[in-house]
Amino acid sequence: MFIEEILQRLEEEIPQSEYERYIKQLRLDEERSKSDWIVFEAPNIFIANWVRAKYAKKMAQLFQLRTGMKTQVEITTPTTLPIQRTNPQWEPNPTPPSTKINPTYIFENFVVGSSNHFAYTAALSVAERPGKVYNPLFIHGGVGLGKTHLLHAIGNYNLARGRIVIYVTIEQFMNDFTYHLRNQSIEHFRQKYRKCDILLIDDVQFLSGKERTQEEFFHTFNELHTASKQIVLTSDKHPKEIVGLEDRLKSRFEWGLIADIQPPELETKIAIIKKKCELNKIELEDEVINYIATHMDSNIREIEGVINKLNAYSTLVNQPITIELAQSVLSEQRKEQEQSIQLQDIVTLVASELNIKPSEIRSKSRSRRTVLARRIVIYLARTLTPNSMPALAQFFGMRDHSTVSHAMRRIQEQIQKDPEFKLFIASLQHKIKRLSSP
Ligand code: ADP
Ligand code: MG
Repeated sequence: MFIEEILQRLEEEIPQSEYERYIKQLRLDEERSKSDWIVFEAPNIFIANWVRAKYAKKMAQLFQLRTGMKTQVEITTPTTLPIQRTNPQWEPNPTPPSTKINPTYIFENFVVGSSNHFAYTAALSVAERPGKVYNPLFIHGGVGLGKTHLLHAIGNYNLARGRIVIYVTIEQFMNDFTYHLRNQSIEHFRQKYRKCDILLIDDVQFLSGKERTQEEFFHTFNELHTASKQIVLTSDKHPKEIVGLEDRLKSRFEWGLIADIQPPELETKIAIIKKKCELNKIELEDEVINYIATHMDSNIREIEGVINKLNAYSTLVNQPITIELAQSVLSEQRKEQEQSIQLQDIVTLVASELNIKPSEIRSKSRSRRTVLARRIVIYLARTLTPNSMPALAQFFGMRDHSTVSHAMRRIQEQIQKDPEFKLFIASLQHKIKRLSSP
């Protein structure tokens, strides 16, 4: 194959340091690779996650450019089990590899503390007695706090017992639905989802405003529920707080049990870091672990990213991981994060939170909601990206930057007097940071 050629092109397009640290560590899995399905093995799950999140899509595009064939790139680790097809008759459609259940997300690898004890116990009960205890189970909480991990843990537990498990993000459900609508194979779609024993749906907050998908999902839900098949849902918000979600779905989501996950306390954070190091055979001194736990926020995915970087770096230069190295990786990570936040991503996020079209934010519309959305985008961009006021004015087609500074002031005032608004802005900042993290 022409793997060398593709990797060389990738090397030209990404920072040299990233190429050295991550891409160079990949090994082509020739046995499993096919012309339109390229499998690489990474030495550990951190590197695998990193490459998957940052470069898999790019690599797939490069392959596609070379061969003209739609290609998927899969990054595995030595512990990854063979790909699970939840339904053997199911022919692949655009269901990306991320629909697969991650075999390392099991209950045994989940560190329990008071912040997640309730959700953990609920998930375990549901895994042990699907359809019998709480139906549905609805898990909600902030980003990177382990919702997907618990969802997969329920999946793994039941796959091991021969049950038919389907795991999809709500976006994949939606894509699948539109795919079958277009191909006039909707019956196939319905059968697939209604034949499973356990349906695991991730990130249902994205149902917001998607009316047709909500309608279809409503019927799927009812059929499964009536047949006592277990449904588990996750979201970054409580059902009541999902704007643009039909009331009948909100009320169904509350039928069973709602469990939230809170950010981990320091102790749990430390225990999670230790667990991850143990699983990936990475050695970290207590001092370094404490440093990471106290200097990073509670997003475990981000913490993993940093450990990943530290490990890759120390392997590369063959030096132990010191606290100085941790400091420099942490500050580098912050810088990279700031640079990689795209204005358009902020626009898209704010539009979805306020339930308006992204194009409206950059239009000349003066409706109250649009004006507010625009101001919020400006505020977020100023606080999270290196964009200057004139650059923002240009982005919005404003005459000069006085409108930008006015917007900044208005949002600052509102943050000061309205605690709920302050929380809302903080949650947006959190989500944007997540967009740019691995
Ligand atoms: P969410 O879906 O809530 O955004 P994830 O489930 O994807 O978060 O978790 C992010 C990462 O953090 C995963 O790799 C997961 O294994 C890890 N993680 C989160 N909480 C825990 C925990 N309590 N114990 C072990 N790992 C955890
Ligand atoms: Mg998740």
